[in-house]
Amino acid sequence: MVDCLRYGTCARVMTRIVLLFFSFCSVLSFPCFRAAAEAQGWPRVETASLGDPVIPASPLDPVYRLPLRIHLGGSGRSPADFKVMLEEINDIWLSQAGICFEMQIVLDDDPLRQGMDIWFLPDLSGDSGLNGIYRDEHHIQVRDTPVLGPAPHPAHYPAARTAAHECGHGLSLRHRQDSDDNLMRSKTYGWQLNAREVIVARKAAVGKALQDTTPRNCGEPTISIHSGSSTN
Ligand SMILES: [Zn+2]
Repeated sequence: MVDCLRYGTCARVMTRIVLLFFSFCSVLSFPCFRAAAEAQGWPRVETASLGDPVIPASPLDPVYRLPLRIHLGGSGRSPADFKVMLEEINDIWLSQAGICFEMQIVLDDDPLRQGMDIWFLPDLSGDSGLNGIYRDEHHIQVRDTPVLGPAPHPAHYPAARTAAHECGHGLSLRHRQDSDDNLMRSKTYGWQLNAREVIVARKAAVGKALQDTTPRNCGEPTISIHSGSSTN
């Protein structure tokens, strides 16, 4: 059950859940939910302006697909922001390392048993200047709008870059501060991995990936509005 004490009153939380649910369904083009949302008078989110998903080709085989649960119950950002942002996380990883994330969007705090978990939050606990916190692969926090320094070849979305960086920690990568273009550089828009990092990350991914390595990419995020026990 959503923790009402943590996020405010139960009424506020339930209103947020309904809004988020319908908005996400509309953004992600689920026709039945979109129709239901429009019937309820919810504003329609046009998908055309967001562009078609770009599926980068992986240079490596096999592609490792890792479950990634995205916890948005405490986020202050709009659902439309997350579609393109989540796509960029997979763009960064698939195009360079042959790794992508099968994402599940939830509003609760139940972690996965396999893969990784990220919570998006307006501010991270204890320090308003922090962009991301990595404790382990099931305790990752990312600020809704990280503040990042420039890079010669920058990522588009700061939250995508920071989330992809934290996933790098989850794949056994450490910081590498010799270029602002590095994904593992602290607090920049860099997104690039070197050959050694690709080898290390792919080795770590083997133990976390789904068994079926036939698919060459990951699907669009699924939405799971559940409470109580984990469904992984
Ligand atoms: Zn880091």
